[in-house]
Amino acid sequence: MNKYNNLDKTAANHSALTPLSLLQRSARIFPDKRAVIDDDRILSYRQLYQRCRQMGDALRRRGINPGDTVAILCPNSHEMLESHYSVPMAGAVLNSINIRLDSATIAFVLAHGEARVLFYDTQWENEIRAAIAELEVPPLLVAIERKAGASEGLADLGYEHLLTEGDPEASWQRPADEWDAITLNYTSGTTGNPKGVVYHHRGAYLAAMTNAMVFDMTAETVYLWTLPMFHCNGWAYTWAITAVGGTHVCLREVDAMEIYRRIEDYGVTHMCGAPVVMNMLLQDLGREGLTLSRPAHFALGGAAPPSSVIHKAEDIGFQVTHLYGLTETFGPSALCVLQPEWQQLPLEERAVKMSRQGVPTHGLDEVAVLDMDSGEPLPADGNTMGEICIRGNTVMKGYLKNAEATEKAFRDGWFHTGDLAVMHPDHYVEIRDRAKDVIISGGENISSLEVEEVLYRHPKVSEAAVVAMADEKWGEVPCAFVNPVDDGEAPTPEEIIAFCRERMAHFKAPRKVVLGELPKTATGKIRKNILRDSLSR
Ligand code: ADP
Repeated sequence: MNKYNNLDKTAANHSALTPLSLLQRSARIFPDKRAVIDDDRILSYRQLYQRCRQMGDALRRRGINPGDTVAILCPNSHEMLESHYSVPMAGAVLNSINIRLDSATIAFVLAHGEARVLFYDTQWENEIRAAIAELEVPPLLVAIERKAGASEGLADLGYEHLLTEGDPEASWQRPADEWDAITLNYTSGTTGNPKGVVYHHRGAYLAAMTNAMVFDMTAETVYLWTLPMFHCNGWAYTWAITAVGGTHVCLREVDAMEIYRRIEDYGVTHMCGAPVVMNMLLQDLGREGLTLSRPAHFALGGAAPPSSVIHKAEDIGFQVTHLYGLTETFGPSALCVLQPEWQQLPLEERAVKMSRQGVPTHGLDEVAVLDMDSGEPLPADGNTMGEICIRGNTVMKGYLKNAEATEKAFRDGWFHTGDLAVMHPDHYVEIRDRAKDVIISGGENISSLEVEEVLYRHPKVSEAAVVAMADEKWGEVPCAFVNPVDDGEAPTPEEIIAFCRERMAHFKAPRKVVLGELPKTATGKIRKNILRDSLSR
């Protein structure tokens, strides 16, 4: 014990970190400021804080306890934002579900997460009805209705009705421990069933603070929700915008003209998204000859921005920030910090620098490139390729009820990303390849195994392998290689695609099917690298 160690943690100098405190702070400082604009519904910070406390209290009165799961299936809206605060204020864990999933996967997620309440937008009434039919213990169904009467009797009650059961002045408790779970986000890994990534209050708080910092946010920030809030809780920006007291501008559907109108009408300063969103936006605005009247920041993640995108974006008035991350790291874990001298470089050279995934965000200790066999750090020579491994305080708790996958992901004291990269001499990482069987289409993960499992159910399929195929719009799309059964008539590619579309979310179905024998290794494993290469030739 040294002389400094007898000073204890007390209530005066130590409390559990949680992003919930950020809303309390902004509500005190900016009570009348616009916190959220959701079409014609505008909430001040005072109102947002009250509604969150009220819903948290209503959930508690309905018997929701710490450790329970409350799920939501809803596009970007004030209800979706509120849930990021109200649910953890009740001590519960928010599971925000991707609206593009099919009903079978929604049912899997609800059952696996043991959701006790489901807030759902009535636009998805049919999917929810089908998903609920598969559950032994259905959650309390709470309808978020845009049009009165849209629920057709499926819901137990409406969102606004449930809200009235709570007290808007109710107090809320910090979590007993900052390591307590705050949210649950399902991600398609390399295996078929999605994995439930669990976030902790501490990481959510740190991710909110660092994400605000890396994106130069202040109380003047007006943030447009082009990124779905169900992707890693909107890369923690659901909490980061509130941290700075900025304004959240909701967007239900990605539509270039709607985005442009909101940017101009509300003075949007910041937004995030996958390159597919930026491409679509640039194409549509370019076609109409539109430019921004004030520059806006656009953080791109999910894939590296090509030089043509950076060029077009700057012409229209966007300043591009390149982020890299995964669901397991609360979204952004690295960013390509712009060095002032790059500004002098010709565009092509600058774009090469900006396309690198970059350096760790502040909440992490390290984003390293390690040897796949020895686990040792590789030389920062811009040439030797290894796996990106991450450690620090904005890494998930682990995968829910999946000790095996958690152990595998965290082996040797690192989170293993499955991304292959080089480390440059200036300590910026650059992704070169992917070791995992994941296809990333328009920012959504597709497990190739999941698609293969469906292909194998087709009676005319003997063997199948699915790989990523480059696509101008989506970045990547699934391509299936199928070896048909010997006897009988060979299936047509159209028939196989239709078979898949009936059994999975449409974005996961193969866009192309190639029939023929599959190349194998000596031990009989399908050589996916040869299949991938055959597509790029
Ligand atoms: P998110 O929901 O944030 O898209 P996912 O977990 O679904 O996160 O996908 C993470 C994967 O996306 C990474 O492991 C990597 O393969 C890819 N990825 C993310 N950002 C980038 C980037 N900037 N450049 C290249 N690949 C990226």
